[in-house]
Amino acid sequence: MYRVKSRIELQEKLEKLRSSPCAIGFVPTMGALHAGHISLIKKAKAENRFVVASVFVNPTQFNNAEDLQKYPRMPEEDAALLNEAGCDLLWMPEFDDVYSGFPEYNYQLGELETILEGKFRPGHFKGVAQVVGLLMEAIKPDNSYFGIKDFQQVKVIEQVVKKRGFSTNVIACPIVREPDGLAMSSRNLLLNPEERKAASNIPLWLNEAKRRVMALESIPGVLESIKKKIGSESLFKLEYLEIRNAENLDEVKEIIPNKHYVILFAAWCGKIRLIDNLLIP
Ligand code: AMP
Repeated sequence: MYRVKSRIELQEKLEKLRSSPCAIGFVPTMGALHAGHISLIKKAKAENRFVVASVFVNPTQFNNAEDLQKYPRMPEEDAALLNEAGCDLLWMPEFDDVYSGFPEYNYQLGELETILEGKFRPGHFKGVAQVVGLLMEAIKPDNSYFGIKDFQQVKVIEQVVKKRGFSTNVIACPIVREPDGLAMSSRNLLLNPEERKAASNIPLWLNEAKRRVMALESIPGVLESIKKKIGSESLFKLEYLEIRNAENLDEVKEIIPNKHYVILFAAWCGKIRLIDNLLIP
């Protein structure tokens, strides 16, 4: 695996590749890699001749200075895991390698910026759009891989690709979970043992909600009763629990068979903010 830092080094490596017909798959990450990230690398490797991963903790997408400062960083472990998973090129830029010399693109993301994550993390998706736009512009991948762990983010990326006219396929990949069902996340490393134990309730709540709405219980009634359960767990402070249309994230009043929905969750567990979601059906 090649490892580069500057945009110039990146470009040199990519130029050599582009002279041969060779599909490039791209997996952007913020590091502290786990099996969820590695599943994206493996899928990219199975579908492309060459896989590029980036590890960059992007400050512009953090709306909370403490969250940015606490975000786990372990570049050497990340590089070893990527190498083992078959990644071909790792780009580990500094801030200026990504941003310097490039004008800010004015992304208008519409409702995506005001609902769910957009509502609770003002400015977050502008930062995500900005960085992914710059990374894609530098790498020009044929295929780009994202986890639906960040469900709304995938919708944002689709907008970025459309607005910028990039010719990359956005490939949405399933959530990888711990044995107890907790969605893997770099932030799980920051949970203390008591918080980690409490966090294992999240997939239980989501699965219960799914089971009940699929049995055609009313959506408001189900959400109300699950919110009560969450409220009785003292470590949790819920931000949202919603059921939306999985195609466009529109609000929904009832489940119609054969249509696709998603239950979306965000809460603070102690001082750590966790998100998760579950597709219906
Ligand atoms: P991050 O490093 O958190 O920015 O995540 C980088 C990519 O990995 C994003 O596309 C995430 O959605 C994806 N990802 C994070 N956690 C998981 C997971 N548990 N399963 C699958 N993909 C994930």
